[in-house]
Amino acid sequence: MTVIDLPEVHTCSVEGCSYNSDAACHAGAITVSGAQASCGTFIDIGGQGGLSKTLAKVGACHRIDCAHNDNLECSASSITVGPGADAADCLTYVPV
Ligand code: SF4
Repeated sequence: MTVIDLPEVHTCSVEGCSYNSDAACHAGAITVSGAQASCGTFIDIGGQGGLSKTLAKVGACHRIDCAHNDNLECSASSITVGPGADAADCLTYVPV
């Protein structure tokens, strides 16, 4: 896998995130971590951040207990992020 192959964040329904616009994540890449596969890139500081013409990739994932995790990278074709146990969780997480 190369950086180009990293999966996209297909949709993100976290309305309060500064990287979110029209249910799309515009960070360059996100990191998924935490006890509930939370999005570590989520931030709510108002305004709009990120890259307007780019959809975020999953740059890294710390959830080695997910079936899609391969060497701390995500091997899913794409992921969905939304509210879960945390304000922003990876909803594509599948426990091994
Ligand atoms: S699907 Fe699994 S491996 Fe991919 S980002 Fe979500 S928790 Fe991490």
